[in-house]
Amino acid sequence: MTHIAENLALITAKIEETCQKNGRPPAAVTLVAVSKTHPIEAVEAALAAGQRMFGENRVQEAATKFAPLKSRFPDLELHLIGPLQTNKVHEAIRLFDVIETLDRPKLADALATEMKKQERFPRLYIEVNIAAEPQKAGVLPENLDAFIALCRELGLKIDGLMCLPPVDQDPAPHFAQLRLMATRLGLAELSMGMSADFEEAIAAGATHVRVGTAIFGDRDKPR
Ligand SMILES: *Cc1c(COP(=O)(O)O)cnc(C)c1O
Repeated sequence: MTHIAENLALITAKIEETCQKNGRPPAAVTLVAVSKTHPIEAVEAALAAGQRMFGENRVQEAATKFAPLKSRFPDLELHLIGPLQTNKVHEAIRLFDVIETLDRPKLADALATEMKKQERFPRLYIEVNIAAEPQKAGVLPENLDAFIALCRELGLKIDGLMCLPPVDQDPAPHFAQLRLMATRLGLAELSMGMSADFEEAIAAGATHVRVGTAIFGDRDKPR
């Protein structure tokens, strides 16, 4: 726990430095601290250090940790960065401020219905399967335009795109590709870059980097 504040300061400094190098204002990049698998004490340590944006990849785990914290920290912002099943949509909309993993028509439909019902409107990013990997979630690049059109028909406002490039490749061309898509579609937010590659992502135009390990340390089981 003791290293969390130090790690946050280090990452924040690196983000600022990378922004400067690339002629971007530091405020253009938001650090989303990915606290999945880490206990609430780790989140508390990050909060004490001033961190307010967090990412979790499971609805139930996020609810257990963050529901009590959200009332204590009204400016806390929670991002869902893992797959969302339609039977968890109700709880996800109650809890998350940003859902980064909108990736299929059935989910778009369920989100549209439930958002109207709850009158709560988390910001939405579409997850793009940027390298068309068969095992990976996300909308295929060639289906993106049609999917966005469908979302808009359902009344969903899309704010950005998110991707996870292949683990065994240079991420830079994939980041560049995602940025081109966002620019073409007029989408402002770009969630890309993790512990190992957030600097490349910032150079390519990321507005949100999702950093876990470099802040909270290793996870027992990678997911
Ligand atoms: C776990 C996870 C991260 C954080 O990865 P680190 O390598 O620990 O920084 C970022 N994005 C997604 C979608 C994740 O699942």
